[in-house]
Amino acid sequence: MSPILSTHGLMREFSIGGGMFRPRKTLHAVNGVDLSVNRGEVLGIVGESGCGKSTLARMMLGLIPPTHGTMKLDGKDIAGMSRRAMSRRVQPVFQDPYSSLNPRRTVAQIVALPLEVHGIGTRDQQRRQVMEMLERVGLSARHAGSTPGQLSGGQRQRVAIARALVMRPDVVICDEPTSALDVSVQAQILNLLLDLRKQFDLTYVFISHNLAVVEHIATHVAVMYLGQVVEYNLTRELFREPRHPYTQALLASVLTPETGQGLPDIGLGLSFPDPINPPPGCTFHPRCPQRLAYCDHVIPQPVTRDGAMVACHLYPETIEEGQPS
Ligand code: SF4
Repeated sequence: MSPILSTHGLMREFSIGGGMFRPRKTLHAVNGVDLSVNRGEVLGIVGESGCGKSTLARMMLGLIPPTHGTMKLDGKDIAGMSRRAMSRRVQPVFQDPYSSLNPRRTVAQIVALPLEVHGIGTRDQQRRQVMEMLERVGLSARHAGSTPGQLSGGQRQRVAIARALVMRPDVVICDEPTSALDVSVQAQILNLLLDLRKQFDLTYVFISHNLAVVEHIATHVAVMYLGQVVEYNLTRELFREPRHPYTQALLASVLTPETGQGLPDIGLGLSFPDPINPPPGCTFHPRCPQRLAYCDHVIPQPVTRDGAMVACHLYPETIEEGQPS
């Protein structure tokens, strides 16, 4: 099966700062990401704030072009696709539904907008599609005339989901879609996304800093650290046997009361390295309790086995004979 979405050596650099006496610096927000997701799968992408996952999400939506590397949608390079063509097939659901919904429009107008922009159907057909989609996301006809300000946070996120799905996209990029919601509402929205995935044969890329949420929804997980994927596996395997020390630290954080608040201090130190001046060698080495003598100057290469990937010197196949130490 060929992947519906794939990235190959995807990179995004930003030029930062600078001044009369200070040179500009380069931030590698996404630094050589190879990922693929098959139709119907849910790829969870996890990591702390600043790891590059939201930049990657925007690149997958075609909102930010890559500096290097390629991304393919259904086997076709997106570099040759217009934003309009891309948005018919890849749609977003963002974290804060309030800021992503026009407060002056009604729910029906908001959900109908993509159909209008793409000129799909007559007014009547659009109205029917909107009402059907509202029903599918658990909203009733009485919500159609409401404005976002008259709805709860969970209802607003249902509107954002309806707007994303009304175009019948292939892929939905969900960037922290439940982070701004109460815990009880989070579960409802996650279950709704799972139901809709079955109904519409959808593929999700699900970005989150919360591994518990990703465990619930994802079929596969990629763990990002400082712009790179350090581990990838089936969700159940990754949770059963996390291999990269950073994944192990994230999993330990799920077991603490600070879940959802980022990585707690579990012996690694809280400080996230400066992404503009990343540590040499393995970028995780200053926080890694298992680091080896050469981790601070030898970059671990990703090693793939049985579809799983890890980039860490702890795994013997990553260490070649005569490795410097
Ligand atoms: Fe830790 Fe070394 Fe593995 Fe990096 S390569 S995660 S420093 S053991």
